[in-house]
Amino acid sequence: VEGLYFRYPGGRDVFGGVEFSVDKGDCLVVLGPNGSGKTTLLKTLLGLEQPYEGSIDLFGIPLNGFSDWSRVAYLPQNTRLLNPHFPATAAEVAALGLLSAKKFPRRFTELDMEKARLALDKVGLAARADSIYGELSGGQQQRVLLARLLVGEPELLLLDEPSSALDNDSRGLFFSLLDAINAEGKSTVIWITHDMGEAGKHATKLLYLDGKMRFCGAMGEFCRSNEMERLLGPFTQHTVCHMHDGERPK
Ligand code: ADP
Repeated sequence: VEGLYFRYPGGRDVFGGVEFSVDKGDCLVVLGPNGSGKTTLLKTLLGLEQPYEGSIDLFGIPLNGFSDWSRVAYLPQNTRLLNPHFPATAAEVAALGLLSAKKFPRRFTELDMEKARLALDKVGLAARADSIYGELSGGQQQRVLLARLLVGEPELLLLDEPSSALDNDSRGLFFSLLDAINAEGKSTVIWITHDMGEAGKHATKLLYLDGKMRFCGAMGEFCRSNEMERLLGPFTQHTVCHMHDGERPK
Protein backbone atom coordinates (compact mmCIF):
# COMPACT_ATOMS: atom_id res chain seq x y z
CA VAL A 1 0.00 0.00 0.00
CA GLU A 2 1.47 3.37 -0.99
CA GLY A 3 0.42 6.93 -0.10
CA LEU A 4 -3.22 6.03 0.55
CA TYR A 5 -5.75 8.83 1.20
CA PHE A 6 -9.45 8.23 1.65
CA ARG A 7 -12.61 10.28 2.24
CA TYR A 8 -16.31 9.50 1.89
CA PRO A 9 -18.25 11.80 -0.49
CA GLY A 10 -18.75 15.22 1.09
CA GLY A 11 -16.68 14.28 4.16
CA ARG A 12 -13.22 15.04 5.44
CA ASP A 13 -10.26 12.72 5.08
CA VAL A 14 -10.85 9.53 7.06
CA PHE A 15 -7.16 8.74 6.75
CA GLY A 16 -4.13 9.82 4.83
CA GLY A 17 -0.51 8.86 4.32
CA VAL A 18 -1.10 5.14 4.85
CA GLU A 19 1.86 3.07 3.65
CA PHE A 20 2.75 -0.46 4.49
CA SER A 21 3.69 -3.81 3.09
CA VAL A 22 2.85 -7.25 4.34
CA ASP A 23 4.96 -10.28 3.60
CA LYS A 24 3.83 -13.86 3.28
CA GLY A 25 3.21 -15.32 6.73
CA ASP A 26 2.96 -11.90 8.43
CA CYS A 27 0.22 -11.09 10.86
CA LEU A 28 -0.39 -7.34 10.73
CA VAL A 29 -2.60 -6.07 13.54
CA VAL A 30 -4.38 -2.76 12.92
CA LEU A 31 -5.05 -0.69 16.04
CA GLY A 32 -6.70 2.70 16.49
CA PRO A 33 -9.62 4.45 18.19
CA ASN A 34 -13.21 4.04 17.02
CA GLY A 35 -13.88 5.91 13.81
CA SER A 36 -10.19 6.09 12.86
CA GLY A 37 -10.78 4.33 9.55
CA LYS A 38 -9.72 0.74 10.25
CA THR A 39 -12.77 -0.90 8.65
CA THR A 40 -12.57 1.54 5.75
CA LEU A 41 -8.92 0.57 5.23
CA LEU A 42 -9.82 -3.13 4.97
CA LYS A 43 -12.58 -2.26 2.51
CA THR A 44 -10.15 -0.33 0.30
CA LEU A 45 -7.88 -3.41 0.27
CA LEU A 46 -10.85 -5.41 -1.03
CA GLY A 47 -11.75 -2.77 -3.63
CA LEU A 48 -15.10 -2.15 -1.90
CA GLU A 49 -14.18 1.50 -1.31
CA GLN A 50 -12.07 3.71 -3.59
CA PRO A 51 -9.24 5.84 -2.17
CA TYR A 52 -8.81 9.23 -3.93
CA GLU A 53 -5.05 8.93 -3.86
CA GLY A 54 -2.51 6.15 -3.53
CA SER A 55 -2.11 2.61 -4.75
CA ILE A 56 -2.69 -0.92 -3.55
CA ASP A 57 -1.16 -4.11 -4.89
CA LEU A 58 -2.35 -7.58 -3.90
CA PHE A 59 0.14 -10.42 -4.49
CA GLY A 60 2.14 -7.95 -6.60
CA ILE A 61 -0.80 -7.09 -8.87
CA PRO A 62 -2.42 -3.63 -8.90
CA LEU A 63 -5.82 -3.90 -7.25
CA ASN A 64 -7.77 -2.76 -10.31
CA GLY A 65 -6.29 -5.66 -12.29
CA PHE A 66 -6.59 -8.23 -9.53
CA SER A 67 -9.24 -10.90 -10.00
CA ASP A 68 -8.08 -13.98 -8.11
CA TRP A 69 -10.36 -13.39 -5.12
CA SER A 70 -10.34 -17.05 -4.10
CA ARG A 71 -6.91 -16.28 -2.55
CA VAL A 72 -8.48 -13.76 -0.20
CA ALA A 73 -11.02 -14.22 2.60
CA TYR A 74 -12.78 -11.48 4.55
CA LEU A 75 -14.47 -11.74 7.92
CA PRO A 76 -16.61 -8.60 8.25
CA GLN A 77 -17.49 -7.16 11.62
CA ASN A 78 -21.10 -8.22 11.35
CA THR A 79 -21.27 -11.97 10.86
CA ARG A 80 -25.04 -11.84 11.14
CA LEU A 81 -25.07 -10.98 7.44
CA LEU A 82 -26.14 -14.53 6.69
CA ASN A 83 -29.83 -15.01 7.44
CA PRO A 84 -29.91 -17.46 10.38
CA HIS A 85 -32.90 -19.19 8.74
CA PHE A 86 -30.95 -19.81 5.52
CA PRO A 87 -32.43 -23.10 4.26
CA ALA A 88 -29.20 -25.07 3.86
CA THR A 89 -27.14 -27.60 5.76
CA ALA A 90 -24.01 -26.67 7.69
CA ALA A 91 -21.89 -28.34 4.98
CA GLU A 92 -23.60 -26.33 2.24
CA VAL A 93 -23.03 -23.05 4.12
CA ALA A 94 -19.35 -23.96 4.67
CA ALA A 95 -19.02 -24.78 0.95
CA LEU A 96 -20.18 -21.24 0.08
CA GLY A 97 -16.60 -20.22 0.87
CA LEU A 98 -15.55 -22.01 -2.34
CA LEU A 99 -17.88 -20.08 -4.65
CA SER A 100 -15.53 -17.20 -5.46
CA ALA A 101 -13.12 -19.67 -7.09
CA LYS A 102 -15.80 -21.00 -9.43
CA LYS A 103 -16.80 -19.98 -12.87
CA PHE A 104 -20.30 -20.39 -14.26
CA PRO A 105 -22.07 -22.74 -13.63
CA ARG A 106 -21.46 -22.31 -9.92
CA ARG A 107 -22.32 -25.80 -8.73
CA PHE A 108 -20.80 -27.68 -5.84
CA THR A 109 -18.98 -30.89 -6.70
CA GLU A 110 -18.48 -33.90 -4.46
CA LEU A 111 -14.94 -32.68 -3.83
CA ASP A 112 -16.29 -29.30 -2.67
CA MET A 113 -18.61 -31.01 -0.20
CA GLU A 114 -15.71 -33.16 1.02
CA LYS A 115 -13.65 -29.98 1.63
CA ALA A 116 -16.62 -28.45 3.46
CA ARG A 117 -16.86 -31.50 5.72
CA LEU A 118 -13.12 -31.34 6.46
CA ALA A 119 -13.47 -27.65 7.34
CA LEU A 120 -16.39 -28.46 9.65
CA ASP A 121 -14.27 -31.16 11.24
CA LYS A 122 -11.57 -28.54 12.00
CA VAL A 123 -14.12 -26.40 13.85
CA GLY A 124 -15.42 -29.40 15.79
CA LEU A 125 -18.71 -29.73 13.91
CA ALA A 126 -18.17 -32.85 11.78
CA ALA A 127 -21.17 -34.50 13.41
CA ARG A 128 -23.47 -31.59 12.45
CA ALA A 129 -22.52 -31.38 8.74
CA ASP A 130 -26.01 -32.39 7.61
CA SER A 131 -27.90 -30.32 10.17
CA ILE A 132 -29.93 -27.37 8.96
CA TYR A 133 -27.89 -24.21 9.61
CA GLY A 134 -30.83 -22.37 11.18
CA GLU A 135 -31.31 -25.15 13.73
CA LEU A 136 -27.79 -24.87 15.14
CA SER A 137 -27.01 -22.79 18.22
CA GLY A 138 -25.58 -19.28 17.77
CA GLY A 139 -22.08 -20.49 18.71
CA GLN A 140 -22.32 -23.41 16.27
CA GLN A 141 -23.45 -21.05 13.51
CA GLN A 142 -20.35 -18.93 14.19
CA ARG A 143 -18.20 -22.04 13.78
CA VAL A 144 -19.87 -22.86 10.46
CA LEU A 145 -19.02 -19.32 9.31
CA LEU A 146 -15.40 -19.90 10.36
CA ALA A 147 -15.41 -23.12 8.32
CA ARG A 148 -16.75 -21.09 5.37
CA LEU A 149 -13.93 -18.56 5.85
CA LEU A 150 -11.19 -21.21 5.91
CA VAL A 151 -12.55 -23.86 3.51
CA GLY A 152 -10.82 -22.44 0.42
CA GLU A 153 -7.46 -22.26 2.26
CA PRO A 154 -7.14 -18.51 1.56
CA GLU A 155 -3.64 -17.07 1.41
CA LEU A 156 -4.70 -13.68 2.74
CA LEU A 157 -7.19 -13.28 5.57
CA LEU A 158 -8.70 -9.88 6.35
CA LEU A 159 -10.38 -9.93 9.74
CA ASP A 160 -12.46 -7.11 11.17
CA GLU A 161 -12.71 -7.43 14.96
CA PRO A 162 -13.18 -11.21 15.13
CA SER A 163 -13.14 -10.94 18.92
CA SER A 164 -16.37 -8.97 18.95
CA ALA A 165 -18.12 -11.18 16.37
CA LEU A 166 -17.36 -14.48 18.09
CA ASP A 167 -18.32 -15.88 21.47
CA ASN A 168 -15.60 -17.04 23.88
CA ASP A 169 -15.44 -20.67 22.74
CA SER A 170 -15.44 -19.87 19.03
CA ARG A 171 -12.82 -17.17 19.61
CA GLY A 172 -10.38 -19.55 21.32
CA LEU A 173 -10.88 -22.09 18.57
CA PHE A 174 -10.48 -19.46 15.88
CA PHE A 175 -7.15 -18.20 17.19
CA SER A 176 -5.78 -21.72 17.53
CA LEU A 177 -6.84 -22.44 13.94
CA LEU A 178 -5.19 -19.20 12.81
CA ASP A 179 -1.98 -20.10 14.63
CA ALA A 180 -2.02 -23.53 13.01
CA ILE A 181 -2.32 -22.21 9.45
CA ASN A 182 0.13 -19.42 10.23
CA ALA A 183 2.64 -21.95 11.56
CA GLU A 184 2.38 -23.86 8.30
CA GLY A 185 3.43 -20.56 6.66
CA LYS A 186 0.30 -20.68 4.52
CA SER A 187 -1.62 -17.64 5.55
CA THR A 188 -1.01 -13.95 5.79
CA VAL A 189 -3.32 -12.06 8.11
CA ILE A 190 -4.41 -8.44 8.38
CA TRP A 191 -6.44 -8.08 11.48
CA ILE A 192 -8.32 -5.24 13.21
CA THR A 193 -8.73 -5.70 16.93
CA HIS A 194 -9.28 -3.91 20.21
CA ASP A 195 -8.08 -6.96 22.07
CA MET A 196 -4.54 -5.92 23.02
CA GLY A 197 -3.70 -9.26 24.65
CA GLU A 198 -4.62 -11.23 21.51
CA ALA A 199 -2.81 -8.64 19.36
CA GLY A 200 0.36 -9.22 21.36
CA LYS A 201 0.13 -12.99 21.05
CA HIS A 202 -0.24 -13.12 17.28
CA ALA A 203 1.13 -9.95 15.66
CA THR A 204 4.37 -9.82 13.74
CA LYS A 205 3.68 -6.20 12.77
CA LEU A 206 1.43 -3.43 14.08
CA LEU A 207 -0.16 -0.48 12.37
CA TYR A 208 -1.72 2.34 14.38
CA LEU A 209 -4.27 4.45 12.53
CA ASP A 210 -5.71 7.71 13.80
CA GLY A 211 -6.55 10.09 10.95
CA LYS A 212 -3.12 9.31 9.61
CA MET A 213 -0.86 6.34 10.01
CA ARG A 214 0.90 7.04 13.31
CA PHE A 215 2.93 3.87 13.44
CA CYS A 216 3.71 0.86 11.34
CA GLY A 217 6.48 -1.50 12.21
CA ALA A 218 7.62 -4.77 13.67
CA MET A 219 6.63 -5.87 17.14
CA GLY A 220 10.00 -4.96 18.67
CA GLU A 221 9.84 -1.39 17.31
CA PHE A 222 6.30 -1.05 18.64
CA CYS A 223 7.45 -2.02 22.13
CA ARG A 224 10.24 0.60 22.04
CA SER A 225 8.16 3.34 20.39
CA ASN A 226 7.80 6.53 22.47
CA GLU A 227 4.97 7.64 20.15
CA MET A 228 3.00 4.46 20.95
CA GLU A 229 3.68 4.87 24.66
CA ARG A 230 2.33 8.44 24.42
CA LEU A 231 -0.80 7.39 22.45
CA LEU A 232 -1.68 4.16 24.25
CA GLY A 233 -0.11 4.70 27.65
CA PRO A 234 2.66 2.48 29.01
CA PHE A 235 0.25 -0.10 30.46
CA THR A 236 -1.46 -0.92 27.15
CA GLN A 237 1.79 -0.84 25.24
CA HIS A 238 3.32 -3.28 27.71
CA THR A 239 0.21 -5.49 27.68
CA VAL A 240 0.79 -6.03 23.96
CA CYS A 241 4.53 -6.58 24.40
CA HIS A 242 4.34 -8.89 27.41
CA MET A 243 1.74 -11.09 25.74
CA HIS A 244 4.07 -11.29 22.79
CA ASP A 245 6.85 -12.63 25.01
CA GLY A 246 4.43 -15.23 26.32
CA GLU A 247 4.18 -13.49 29.69
CA ARG A 248 1.01 -12.38 31.38
CA PRO A 249 0.72 -8.64 31.92
CA LYS A 250 1.01 -7.64 35.57
P1 ADP B 1 -13.16 2.24 12.52
O1 ADP B 1 -13.22 0.90 11.83
O2 ADP B 1 -11.75 2.64 12.88
O3 ADP B 1 -14.08 2.35 13.70
P2 ADP B 1 -14.54 3.22 10.15
O4 ADP B 1 -13.66 2.90 9.00
O5 ADP B 1 -15.71 2.35 10.39
O6 ADP B 1 -13.64 3.36 11.47
O7 ADP B 1 -15.08 4.71 9.99
C1 ADP B 1 -14.19 5.82 9.77
C2 ADP B 1 -15.02 7.10 9.64
O8 ADP B 1 -15.77 7.06 8.41
C3 ADP B 1 -16.04 7.30 10.74
O9 ADP B 1 -16.10 8.68 11.04
C4 ADP B 1 -17.33 6.82 10.13
O10 ADP B 1 -18.43 7.49 10.70
C5 ADP B 1 -17.16 7.20 8.68
N1 ADP B 1 -17.87 6.28 7.75
C6 ADP B 1 -17.81 4.92 7.76
N2 ADP B 1 -18.54 4.40 6.75
C7 ADP B 1 -19.08 5.46 6.09
C8 ADP B 1 -19.93 5.58 4.95
N3 ADP B 1 -20.36 4.50 4.27
N4 ADP B 1 -20.27 6.84 4.55
C9 ADP B 1 -19.83 7.92 5.21
N5 ADP B 1 -19.02 7.88 6.29
C10 ADP B 1 -18.66 6.66 6.74
